[in-house]
Amino acid sequence: MHDYFTSSSLSRRDFLKGLALTAAALVLPSAIRWPEGQALEPVSPFWWCDLRDGKPHGSAHAGNCFGLPGSLMKLVAATALLEERLLSPDSPLECRGTLRIKGQLYRCQHAHGKLNMRQALAGSCNIYFAQAAEVLSTRRFLQYAEAFQLNRPTGPGRESAYLFPSRMALAHPSQLYVLGLAKPMQPSAAQLLRMTRHIALRDIHGFQPATWRILQSGMRTAVTQGTARQLDPQNSLRVAAKTGTTPSGDLYQSWVMGFFPIEKPVVAFCGRALSGTAKDAAVPAARKWLQQAPWASV
Ligand SMILES: [Zn+2]
Repeated sequence: MHDYFTSSSLSRRDFLKGLALTAAALVLPSAIRWPEGQALEPVSPFWWCDLRDGKPHGSAHAGNCFGLPGSLMKLVAATALLEERLLSPDSPLECRGTLRIKGQLYRCQHAHGKLNMRQALAGSCNIYFAQAAEVLSTRRFLQYAEAFQLNRPTGPGRESAYLFPSRMALAHPSQLYVLGLAKPMQPSAAQLLRMTRHIALRDIHGFQPATWRILQSGMRTAVTQGTARQLDPQNSLRVAAKTGTTPSGDLYQSWVMGFFPIEKPVVAFCGRALSGTAKDAAVPAARKWLQQAPWASV
């Protein structure tokens, strides 16, 4: 097996093929038009919903934009670990920057040091979650992905493209799913927006309050100190978010999803950058989008 972060989990040919498919499926509007009549630049494919009425906004093609979710899946993994009491959120795990497990090398951009679960979500530490995945089976992870409905379309006819693993995929190591790099699992933007909405509203029956607290505080810390800290630098919207980047050769694609304000969420969003890392592409595009939008009334 190769190193996910120094070589690609997808061949360049597969990546370009996927990119072409995504681009073909996604027809960007010349401008996103808001109810107020304000036209916004389509900086990147972007979707949001008003949590007060559940009404979706943004490109009509959220169901057709799909791809490897990358580190967004750490939220699913954290949920499984917490709900199944497989790992205490306060137990620190150490990141020294690289770690080999069963012959597979995992890597972070820098050594994060000792992290608890909230900090690991905020910094999107691959090594924390690669270690945590040792106590989380692929089957269990996928049960929680199903709890977040990543195996179901968001509505009749809304999705023409998303991938969810069959039973055959259970042979893959859980790390591949936890890090969102398993080819059989490629959610659509609409599904990811729905997952964000669940986290914002804490509305999956049976989950412990402590689980929602860790997910939300991890996403909030990502914006104040972690991988999404350029998203809302003035802290004007009090955003909570999670980023995801997937490598392919010398190229990357990325996501950012989140909600605001943290205290009483009224907007959930999901953005996609078809080229570039979350830091370089998805987060700056989302920041621009958030700054343009007429949130004064929120
Ligand atoms: Zn790390």
